[in-house]
Amino acid sequence: MDYQPLLDEIAAKVRSEVGRGAVASYIPALACVDIDHFGMAVADVEGRVAGVGDWRRPFSVQSISKLFTLALVLAERKGEREPDTERETEPEGEPGTEDRGSEDIWRRVGREPSGNPFNSLVQLEYEDGIPRNPFINAGSLVVTDRLLTLTGDARGALRAFLRTESCNRTVDFNIAVADSEAEHGHRNAALAHFMADYGNLDNDVADVLAHYFSQCSIEMSCRDLALAAGFLARHGLRGDGSRLLSVRAAKQVNAVMLTCGAYDAAGEFAYRVGLPGKSGVGGGIVAVVPGRCAVAVWSPGIDEQGNSVAGVAALDHFTTLTGWSVF
Ligand code: GLN
Repeated sequence: MDYQPLLDEIAAKVRSEVGRGAVASYIPALACVDIDHFGMAVADVEGRVAGVGDWRRPFSVQSISKLFTLALVLAERKGEREPDTERETEPEGEPGTEDRGSEDIWRRVGREPSGNPFNSLVQLEYEDGIPRNPFINAGSLVVTDRLLTLTGDARGALRAFLRTESCNRTVDFNIAVADSEAEHGHRNAALAHFMADYGNLDNDVADVLAHYFSQCSIEMSCRDLALAAGFLARHGLRGDGSRLLSVRAAKQVNAVMLTCGAYDAAGEFAYRVGLPGKSGVGGGIVAVVPGRCAVAVWSPGIDEQGNSVAGVAALDHFTTLTGWSVF
């Protein structure tokens, strides 16, 4: 399928939405980004990419990184047989059991929408230090902690994965953004210390925070992100055809994206877009059409919930024009 005419049409339709919202200013280094950018890219399951606007321009992925760290943690299924064909039937455990590598993480983080802002502290106390899901900040800190334990270098493992999947060796952290967030990251520090008090972090709080801020500061373009998320469109297969996640685990990640990927606007995102998606306060959103393609969109103006205004509008048009909403 030729995505170019579709992307051109969407770009024309969202022009009036670009510039709406506000750039994230609570991380000072992000406040200087020009709000008028818009880019969108689609990568099909074969790895062919089409794009429009600023689709090759790197931006701060922020919370989109949470999707990839979760996948890398779930990929650690030591000793388990990896099915090597896309649709090979996998051994099912007892109802309710999980893949071995994911057992530990799902004891430490839930998979229900939080209905609260992504950096909220309130739920964490009355739910005993177990974050609602891996895509709010508290949940992602737990995932990063786990990835640090599994790899010894969470940010390095993430960067290596993203470079390989996007076929772009220049994907990297933005140290100034990471430092800026560290300097102003009192809420994230509070969340991490709070969970450490509940025994839900294995590593040193300062180390977990440093890896988390670095992962959020990674800069990628829509092109890079659409390619890197391709494994979710391919039911768990990486770009080279090797398996990252079981078919079942890929389904699970997509499900958590659908229900929790847009924070306390996940319901609205499902209503308008109807695809698994993960957004970041840098203004990026990655969405997945399982079996077909991964889509990435970027426009820095975000709404109160932290989702790109023009990005959501573009994805709304995308599923309306293609009929590819999962609903
Ligand atoms: N680094 C940001 C934070 O922790 C990520 C938040 C986001 O993109 N929603 O606040």
